Amino acid sequence: MLQDLIEGNSDFIRNEVYTIDHKALIYKTTDGQHPKAIVLSCIDSKVPVALIFDQTIGDAFVARVAGNFKNTDILGSIKYSCKVAESKLVFVLEHESCVVIKSACDHVKLKNINVYSKHSANS
Ligand SMILES: [Zn+2]
Repeated sequence: MLQDLIEGNSDFIRNEVYTIDHKALIYKTTDGQHPKAIVLSCIDSKVPVALIFDQTIGDAFVARVAGNFKNTDILGSIKYSCKVAESKLVFVLEHESCVVIKSACDHVKLKNINVYSKHSANS
């Protein structure tokens, strides 16, 4: 599982991603899915999770939240992924130059970003 993500990221870095029959994958996953991993990521548009790991339909769940922190919903999604869909890997993806973290440091006042700021201050 982890090796698939590492190799997929290497393919992405080398710009060697392959053409995929998405229609076939949609059909294959219609009646169920068992993604190998769940990736926790920030919402940052510079980090398209499936693309940077060269993954496709049915390969991984992606739980995204601004600033990439855990909350009840994210933990529930991770639990669902592992307990129900039998994912074997929880991958926490960090990235550089996070505008959400910068916003929190700049005291941007948005309700949910403030939750992150309080969380960080109390951690
Ligand atoms: Zn970010």
